[in-house]
Amino acid sequence: VSAFESISEIPPDPILNLSTLYKADDFEKKVDLGVGAYRDGEGKPWILPVVSKAENIVINRPGRNHEYLPVGGFKEFTTGAARIAFGEDSEVLNNGLVYSIQSISGTGSLSLGGMFLSRFYNSKNIFISKPTWVNHHDVFSAHGFEIGQYAYWDPIKKSLDFDGFVKSIREAPEGSVFVLHACAHNPTGVDPSKEQWAILADEIAKKKHFPFFDMAYQGYATGDLDNDAYAVRLFASRGFELLLAQSFAKNMGLYGERTGCLHILTNNKDATRRAGKQTEKCSRATVSTCPRYGAEIAGTILSSPELFDEWKQTLKQMSGRVLEMRHALRDRLVKLGTPGNWDHIVNQIGMFSFTGISYPNVQILVKKYHIYLADNGRISVAGLNHNNIDYVANSIHEVIS
Ligand code: PMP
Repeated sequence: VSAFESISEIPPDPILNLSTLYKADDFEKKVDLGVGAYRDGEGKPWILPVVSKAENIVINRPGRNHEYLPVGGFKEFTTGAARIAFGEDSEVLNNGLVYSIQSISGTGSLSLGGMFLSRFYNSKNIFISKPTWVNHHDVFSAHGFEIGQYAYWDPIKKSLDFDGFVKSIREAPEGSVFVLHACAHNPTGVDPSKEQWAILADEIAKKKHFPFFDMAYQGYATGDLDNDAYAVRLFASRGFELLLAQSFAKNMGLYGERTGCLHILTNNKDATRRAGKQTEKCSRATVSTCPRYGAEIAGTILSSPELFDEWKQTLKQMSGRVLEMRHALRDRLVKLGTPGNWDHIVNQIGMFSFTGISYPNVQILVKKYHIYLADNGRISVAGLNHNNIDYVANSIHEVIS
């Protein structure tokens, strides 16, 4: 008898399982709208040209080696990462209030932040949006948090349930941690407006909640790094203490290189330094030091004005292609006369669209049409292109009509 005999079976991760099913499918017209990864106009994974350039620089750098990075990570990367998050002339950065630590992409940064808060923050209540990226549940419960959900999505209006969101903030126990999607909310593709963020900040401050921003899609929402950092910078300028988990998976296409950063902002320099050092200790106990390849690539891009400009152009190109596909899909559904209103597809932003396609219809699309999308009707718009858009639109039309 195994020591693990009593372990129960867990169902496969719904999103990762879609990729497995997609890969195993030999239907010619199969379409992958599951995983949140950018695809080029031919439906292929894409290495950003600016990333290739940076890789060349990194590989050919004299004296290059594979030594360990410091526990805090690759400095050129973490300082550049902080600059794009908080802004070129950020007061909190200039005043030394932010400690930035390299971590294992967005997930590792969330987890590291969770570990730090579980040790040093005085509340174990954490609130995540309903719905949210599924892994938020597991990441934070692993650190002993009591997970609550705040209202976010109005399924009837297919838009933000702003009043519900505010109500949730008011009803949460004082001093709770609030996990906020900095931009391009996953899975809904719906973000609060600037005016709504200001109100949310007021409400969060009133209840002394602690904001923990998850920024996995900076540059994807509007194609502009500064615009997409609006909420983070607003909270920073309002004097909040906060955490920010930042991923370079999507915006630099460094998915598997696990390139990310955790930023800790407190209201005084000394607390920031001590909190940073304690977080490094947490990181040391879990991964010791972070992988260097992705950080060297990202650091090279962030610290070279030329490469940085090129990257910003590429972000416009990627987000622009996704936006074009949103319009292409909406326009086709409207033209076909598919029942329902499809404007939400173009109103939503970022990589995903929460289509509103029901669970039974999703099953038909997957099984009969070989179009892979999440059970909740979320599609990764980046998976659409000129070769498959008609097939996808026609299939949705046939299923729904
Ligand atoms: N947060 C959100 C909201 C996400 O969608 C993702 C990626 N799916 C992540 C964090 C983490 O991504 P990664 O660990 O690959 O950076």
